[in-house]
Formats: sequence, structure tokens, C-alpha cells
Amino acid sequence: MTTETKSPALARSPFALALGAVLLVALCLLLSLPQIEAPRTPAGTPWRAETGAAIIADIVGDGAPHPTGSAANDAVRARIVARLRAAGYAPVESQLFQCFSRRRGSGCTQLTNIVAVREGASAKAPAILATAHYDSVPAGPGVADDLAGTAVMLGLAEHLATAPPSRNAIVFLFTDAEETGLRGAAAFAQNDPLMSRIGVAINVEARGVSGPSMLFETGPGNANLVRFYAQHVRNKIADSLSFEVYKILPNDTDFSVYSLAGLNGYNFAFTGSASLYHSLRDDLDHLDRNSLQHHGDNVFALAPALADADLAALQTTSNASYTVFPWGLSVWPSEWNAPLAALALIALIAAAVLARRGLTWRAWAWSLAPLILAPAALFALGWLATYPLAIWPGAQSIDHPAPWPGRLALLALAFVAAFGLGRLFAGRGDWRAHFFTAWFALAGLSLTIAILAPGAAASLLFPALLAGLTALAGQLWRNMLRPAALIGLAAIAYFWVGLFVSLEVVLGFPESAARALMLAPLVWVLTPLAIAAAAPARRAGTIALAAFIAGGAVSAAFAAAAPAYTADRPRGVNVEYYQAPEAEPHWIAHFMGPPDRAYLAANDIATTPQPYDRYGVAAAQRYARAATPLDLAPPTFERTNVSIANGERAISGVVRAGRGGVLRVAVAENSGVLWLRAEGQEVWSRERVAGGARTIATFVGLGERPVAIEIAFEAQRPAPTFWLSERSALPDTEEARALTGSRPPEAAPIHDGDGALVVTRITP
Ligand SMILES: [Zn+2]
Repeated sequence: MTTETKSPALARSPFALALGAVLLVALCLLLSLPQIEAPRTPAGTPWRAETGAAIIADIVGDGAPHPTGSAANDAVRARIVARLRAAGYAPVESQLFQCFSRRRGSGCTQLTNIVAVREGASAKAPAILATAHYDSVPAGPGVADDLAGTAVMLGLAEHLATAPPSRNAIVFLFTDAEETGLRGAAAFAQNDPLMSRIGVAINVEARGVSGPSMLFETGPGNANLVRFYAQHVRNKIADSLSFEVYKILPNDTDFSVYSLAGLNGYNFAFTGSASLYHSLRDDLDHLDRNSLQHHGDNVFALAPALADADLAALQTTSNASYTVFPWGLSVWPSEWNAPLAALALIALIAAAVLARRGLTWRAWAWSLAPLILAPAALFALGWLATYPLAIWPGAQSIDHPAPWPGRLALLALAFVAAFGLGRLFAGRGDWRAHFFTAWFALAGLSLTIAILAPGAAASLLFPALLAGLTALAGQLWRNMLRPAALIGLAAIAYFWVGLFVSLEVVLGFPESAARALMLAPLVWVLTPLAIAAAAPARRAGTIALAAFIAGGAVSAAFAAAAPAYTADRPRGVNVEYYQAPEAEPHWIAHFMGPPDRAYLAANDIATTPQPYDRYGVAAAQRYARAATPLDLAPPTFERTNVSIANGERAISGVVRAGRGGVLRVAVAENSGVLWLRAEGQEVWSRERVAGGARTIATFVGLGERPVAIEIAFEAQRPAPTFWLSERSALPDTEEARALTGSRPPEAAPIHDGDGALVVTRITP
């Protein structure tokens, strides 16, 4: 084995390497904090979080949940309209029955959007759309999601009311019905003549109640828009990776609608404290004022600047890649990613050719093993860690109240994997072959990603480029490789430890195997150094490995002992009265994550879930007990006509809510259903909305309004059937109060919240 005489001390002994690598990861964690916490200092815009909080306090009223169609939502809307009028605008409330056909959540909503226009100096110039939604989910008051965005847009409208006109108009749009299928945004995009004037959209959202307001989404052709953002916004938190990740996640905001309609723009959201998202406690007490400040700073910096800009000049077909480095946001053309990744690969190949002397085929063969063993070890260790981190403490899927012990335990596992492999391969092959193989893999991966999802390339591209160029320089200068290994390790640690923490909003401790796997790049680049250090000092290598195992075990023990839920990180628990045909009514306790067994026992609810057909058709599991019948009025379908033509049996009729709740039309699998129309608009068709969902439409905000529908089945079906269900507020009875009142403080209603679900079978 060749050893380098001139190599950094850090990489020569297992202890020095272990200590150095731990310090490096600690530094990376510190550097990644700005990406998980909202900036503490405002950005010098006229926006103040206190003003925002006062606007929210005004429009939220008594803080009751205000879902679309509720009296509370009418009241919130009236207060927004009153503020706009007081500021001198002429707001328009547009009432629409809007249907929207899409993959997730097709149906129709009776809704009311609010639009106020600040005209620009140029009547012909395109306008800015400044928008947020004002409706909430049924479970909570929706302060972060999205009255915070609403307050920012209102604050901007009020701030600009007395300012001289800008070049471009600003259209302030406060949408309704975002939470029930983006139908307010669809109503504006499809019906409002103002839509044709819009040149760029700014949407402000939330998927939590704290954290930085990230620019997490733009549209294709975003190169100039991202540069504009970089020029005008001071506290910039944005990563083109988030857009690539967001594209594959089952989340949507109003921005999706504008994007589908061909608009480009900016979508901001904060995502911290995700367990409060859509919960009863998404209230003013829990909204992080720094997040509210950051939201407003972004919009107050961007919207007026856009209003004075030549929007046509911002149009382009090229895309930007961007990421936050320790010194700030960098933006570069996405077209550079593939050539840069190729350059990294070429530099590595050239360095390997120069270093090939002394590297046997045997050494190269050994070096392939850690490539496969590292992810396998991480997955296995991560799976084992699921027990102390999530299964035994019964942790929720995301947003642990005390995440640091768990994070440290998983990071320790990465060191266990690297130092374990280092110890295993210490006498086998040559560490330099391990170095090159690991970096060939990473550079190859970065080239693949640069081609397939350019926005996601940075986290591998920059480390590969740094490692490749320093390896080549080291070889050309004096056969030196360790500096390249250390610089590459630092770059990988910076990107991947930060990612590991910030992706917690989608990958929690119950997914510890997948989370540990995210640290595979770190293990790949640390293993060659661990091999080099352990080769002349095996005993020290063993002790370093043992220290990481002990550190991981202690962290995991702390994580297991920490409470999985607190009042500020509650478990989602909904109480539901359930009434379906040919069955006794039941009380159901719904849990987000693992069930609360103490709550079930205290309320005489079976602790083993029972199967049932939710909405009449969908096989689900419930924790339930018998309920005293309340005989709630069911939704109704009144048939008016049946016609058979072209192999289709079309049934027309009128649906009505029984109690002003949300209606759902569902069909069994293989029901032979073909399409559904509501008041002449296509809501569902097999072609347009594929997938296994058996709910084919929801109707929201109807109140007492009847809806004429047409539903078609294959004509040869003798007796087509569908199911009509309605979910409304929970009736205030003694039984209901006992169930909701016994919910512990570390639990809170979430999403749909408490309610009554009445299912009816329709055989027209
Ligand atoms: Zn929202």
C-alpha cells in the first residue's frame, strides 16, 4: 500500500478523522439552521409582523374555523372586503359555482372570491397577481394557512393605496375554496376577464406555522424571475431542488392552477412545525412572527419591484438552478449542470489515470463493495433505529417535538456505517481505489440528475466538481489525494446534512430507513478516508467505531424517552359520528399516526381497528364504538330522467345536502361508471381523472342549493349504484362532548376535524 508523506494530519489517524468529521457535520448543522428557521431580522421593507398579526386578529374574528360555505367564512370575507374599501379600493366579490376536474379532488364548490385592482400607469402592460386564500380547513382557524398570506396581501394593498401608481397594475386576489380542491383559483383562472391581463403571479402559502418563507416553486422558464428574486429580496431561502421534489409530492396550492393556465411566478411557503398545520392550533398564538415577517418581506420586496418592471423582459424559455451556499443564494443557468457534471467526471477519470500506478485490479474490485454495502448498511441500521425513534415512542410521522436526539442518532449511524466499512476494508485493496469508485458513482449520479431533473443537481454536482478538480490538481502536483477526499467530504456534508434535516417535513422518524439512506453520499465519501486511517491503526479504528455505536445508542435512548407529542406538537385526533345504511351508528376516533390507546380505553373504544366501508365503498379501518342514534338528515338524490344511448345509461337528478355539509359521490370498484357532470360541466371522466380513487366528486359550500347532476354507467349494468355521503359539523350532544372533551392536551383536531358523516346508498 502506498502512503502519502505529505497529507493532512486530519486524515491520518482514525481518532483525528472521527473528531474532524464530527466537527464538520456539527458545522454543517449550524450552517443549515438558516434554512429551517425564519430569519430573525426584518429585511428593511415597510412590512412589520406586528401589523400583520393585527390584521389577522381583525379578520379571523373569534378564531372559529371558517371553511368554505360556513357563516364564519362569510364573516371573514366581509372583514377583508371592509378593509379593502376603507383603503380606497373597490373590491368585487365574485360568486361562482365552480367545477374543477383534476386527478386529486374533482367536483364543484359554491364559492366567493374577492378581487381588488390597483390600476397601473400603463393600461396595456401586463398585471401582477398578488394572491392568497382566505378559507380554512374545518378543523382550525387557518391563521398560518393562509390568513398570514391574506394579511400580507391586505397589508400590501393598504400600503400601496396612497403611493403614486406604478407602471403595471396589481390584481389582489383573495381566493375561497383552496382547501377543498383549489376551486377558487380555478374560478378566477377560468372565468375572470382579469386573468388575461396577468403577467406574473405571487402566491403565499403555508404548510406549517413556522420556518422561513421559502421560494419553493416557480414555473418553467424561470431564469429571469429567479434572478429578479435574487436581486430584490434580502433574506433569500430558495432551492431549485424543492421545486423538483414538490413536483412529485401529492401537494397542491392555488399556484398549481395558475401554472396549469400558463402563468409563471413565485410561490412562497413556510413549512416548520408541520404538526400544527391544518389543526385547531393553527392560531395566532402559534404563528411564528419571524415567519410572518419573512412572508411579508418577500412580497413587499417583490411585488412593487415587479409592478415597476418590464414584465415582457422577464420572459425566457431557460431555467435557473439555485441553491443557498453558506455565503448566500447562487443562481446559474440549468443548462450548465450537465456539462459541469461531465467536467467533474472527466477530472476524476484523469486523476485516476494519473494515480493508477500501484492500483491493482484487485483493489478496484474491492472498492466496489462499499458502494453497495453502504446503502444496505444504512437502510438496515435505519430500519432498526425506527424502533427507538418512532415505533416504541409511538411518534407522529413528521415534526417531532424534540427532534435533535433522533437526528443525532441517525447521523451517528452514518458514522457507524463509514467507520464499520473502514474497519472491514482496512487491509483490503487501496483506499485510493475506494475514493475514485465512490466519486465516479457520485459524479455519474450527478450527471444523470443534471439531465433528468436539472434543478436537483447541485447537491451532488458541486461536491463532485470540487473533489474532481482538487484530485486532478493533487495528482498533477505531487501524487496527493487526501486534500481532495477532505474537500469532497466537506462539500457532501454541507449539502446532505442540510437536506437530511430540511426534508424532515416529508420524511419523519417513522421513515428512518429512508432518512438514513439519504446519508449514503456522506458514507460513500467518508469510507475511503476511514479505510486509509484504519489501515495502519486497526485498534484505533475499532475504538472509533465503538464510540460511534455508543453515541448512536445514547442518542436513540434519549429520543425514545422524549415525549412523542406535546400541546405544541399535538397528535391529530378527530371524533366522528358515522351513520351508514343497514348498520348501527358509530363513534369513530381518527388518528394521524399511531392511535392513542389511553384515549381509546378511557372512552370504551375497541383498541383493535375494525374494517368498514368509508363513504360506502372504500375499505378502511376504524377505532369505533356504538353511538346513540342521532338520525341526522341524509343528503338526497332525486331522479329526474334516465336515458340510454351509445352504450351509456345516463341518470339525471338533483342532489341536496341534508345539513349544509360537504357532499361526496363515490362508486364501488368496477361499478361501470363512465362520467359525471354537474350543471352541464364535466366533473369526472375516466380519461381525465385516472387512478384508483373511488370518490369521483365532492360538492362543497352548497348550503341549501340544489345541484343538477348527470351520472352515466355502462348500459349493460342492470342496476347501477352510487353512494352519496355528507360530512358536516359535529352535533352538540352529551356523548359528543364527552368524546371531544376527553381528548388530552397533547391532541388536537386536524384537517376535516370533528364531524358527522352520513352515508346513503343511491340506486337510481
Ligand atoms: Zn393553504
